[in-house]
Amino acid sequence: MISRLPLVIGNWKMNMQVSQACDMAQSLVSNYSATEDVEVVIAPPHTSLYSVSQILKDSPVGLAGQNFYYESNGAFTGEVSIDMLKDAGCGFTLIGHSERRSMFGESDETINKKVHCAMDLGITAVICVGETLMEREAELTLDVIETQLSKGLAGLSGDSISNWVIAYEPVWAIGAGVNATPEQVSEIHKFIRNYLFQGLGFSERIGARILYGGSVKPDNSGQLLREKEVDGVLVGGASLDFESFCAIINSALES
Ligand code: PEP
Repeated sequence: MISRLPLVIGNWKMNMQVSQACDMAQSLVSNYSATEDVEVVIAPPHTSLYSVSQILKDSPVGLAGQNFYYESNGAFTGEVSIDMLKDAGCGFTLIGHSERRSMFGESDETINKKVHCAMDLGITAVICVGETLMEREAELTLDVIETQLSKGLAGLSGDSISNWVIAYEPVWAIGAGVNATPEQVSEIHKFIRNYLFQGLGFSERIGARILYGGSVKPDNSGQLLREKEVDGVLVGGASLDFESFCAIINSALES
């Protein structure tokens, strides 16, 4: 199996002015210019993407969009396309973050269209899945995740697995200050991995990178990243602070 390089992604959500985003990107580039043992990616708001891309070019730090629309151009006021993300310098994009699903009504079908757009352009898709608290309490976690995976990944070829990443983000842990336990994370990651290979027929030879997201902080990242099933983390709030984000990246280097 091809090795699964740990991946640490900072999702800045709707935070940071262009100058702040550039300062943070510059600091990251200075700290991680020669790091080969962890892949670091940041997802600033759309307004900062191009400026940040100029700072990241020639560095190993990657750039992600947080969202896009699945049409390539046209009368879609307020949207940007995947071509535009690529043009702005992105090699990655988040797709189906729970905030997009719950606040902006994104369905698994919409997410699937976006996944195909990213694949067509060679952009690595970070596909977010996860259950709400109500679903967990009703013991529906595995059903919910299975549906999100089967619909979200529909129509992808078996070998496409190196071009996308799954982020397991239990909705109840996002921005909550309380993370899922390493045991809970491990159980779901194992389920996802097994479902990708046995259920959906993706190539086991290549391996799948499965990240955890939900209140990852410097004081819990090491423990989460040491889990065999965890290939990296998607970090929201703690990625806005340079020291915290670096501490999380460093824990991935040590894991
Ligand atoms: C996220 O937004 O993807 C996330 C995991 O947020 P936080 O780390 O703040 O919980």
